[in-house]
Amino acid sequence: TLTPSTSIIKQTEKHGARNYHPLPIVISKAEGVWVEDPEGNRYIDMLSAYSALNQGHRHPKIIQALKDQADKVTLTSRAFHNDKLGAFYEKVSNLTNKDMVLPMNTGAEAVETAIKAIRRWGYENKDIDEGKAEIIACEGNFHGRTMSAVSLSSEAEYKRGFGPMLPGIKVIPYGDIEALKAAITPNTVGFIMEPIQGEVGIVIPPEGFLKEASHICKENNVLFVADEIQSGLGRTGKTFACDWEDVEPDLYILGKALGGGVFPISCIAANESVLSVFNPGSHGSTFGGNPIASAVSIAALEVLEDEKLVERSAKLGRYFKERLNKIHNPKIKEVRGKGLFIGVELTEAARPYCEALKEKGLLCKETHETVIRFAPPLVISEEDLDWAIEKIESVLSA
Ligand code: PLP
Repeated sequence: TLTPSTSIIKQTEKHGARNYHPLPIVISKAEGVWVEDPEGNRYIDMLSAYSALNQGHRHPKIIQALKDQADKVTLTSRAFHNDKLGAFYEKVSNLTNKDMVLPMNTGAEAVETAIKAIRRWGYENKDIDEGKAEIIACEGNFHGRTMSAVSLSSEAEYKRGFGPMLPGIKVIPYGDIEALKAAITPNTVGFIMEPIQGEVGIVIPPEGFLKEASHICKENNVLFVADEIQSGLGRTGKTFACDWEDVEPDLYILGKALGGGVFPISCIAANESVLSVFNPGSHGSTFGGNPIASAVSIAALEVLEDEKLVERSAKLGRYFKERLNKIHNPKIKEVRGKGLFIGVELTEAARPYCEALKEKGLLCKETHETVIRFAPPLVISEEDLDWAIEKIESVLSA
């Protein structure tokens, strides 16, 4: 006879497209940093839904906002105003120090929105012939799975069989200032980058790169676009990863933890000089900026502030990295990261380690074959973090 978990997995795999390779675990309940399977086994979540759960699972304040809003109004479409969207705009505008916000639902949609914004900005503000706008992206990037996002990618497998790709894209090595300078032409409208690359394995650019890149963009009238979908909202120990170099991008792309792991919401934020390119009819989304998403996001951002999760991420991240650095194992090539955004690069496949950690009650996921990513909810207690570190030590020690 099958356990509940095995029969659920069987059912899931029977009719589902096979575009994921999950660890064989079913989560049926969760709270804070802990999740539970139908058999009642508990695991600590060290992935946080790729940083969408910075505030932890089912944060009571965020759940309350969801319930309260569900009792009032859930969706109006943008054909009418709703009474939560303005407050959400104000919150994000204050947080990003930008004039304007445009809400969408998923990260990839916000990336699409950013691409449309910077292209139209380019045509309206630079002397670029129709259809000739160019965007510069970085090797190893991950901006999502829609056609524009995979067009930016340097990863052959993300694009295989999906062509033709979006034209007008140049890809430079991540962190290479000279390559950025060389790639800029009079037709360049924007440079899009992750200030710390997440999916490719927590890759930090050389110090000074963000600052210099933003200067070069400014000099050349090119928009500096920061995809902070994964790195933003406290994950790296700063509100935004760009803050590590005191860089203010021209355009932020936000998602994931913006919805507190409760409801999908994403957005771009920029000054009026950029976002005024959108007029009625030029862009939109039925669910974008809906009252539930807005109310949930306001609560999610309040939790970030009230519980000082940025500072928490910085402090616990330093401690976590220190402990990881003490693990002796010649198969560990590098421990890197900022805040609670840490990658352990191995000289061999990371998946067997993730499977062994799962057996010990710790959930994490390999990224790019050889890197284990540790990114627990930022609300993790010191006690729980110590518990997790002990498991990691026992699995990773040679
Ligand atoms: N950009 C970055 C930096 C990401 O990490 C992700 C998701 O992992 C995305 C964009 C895409 O977001 P979504 O999966 O919500 O479309």
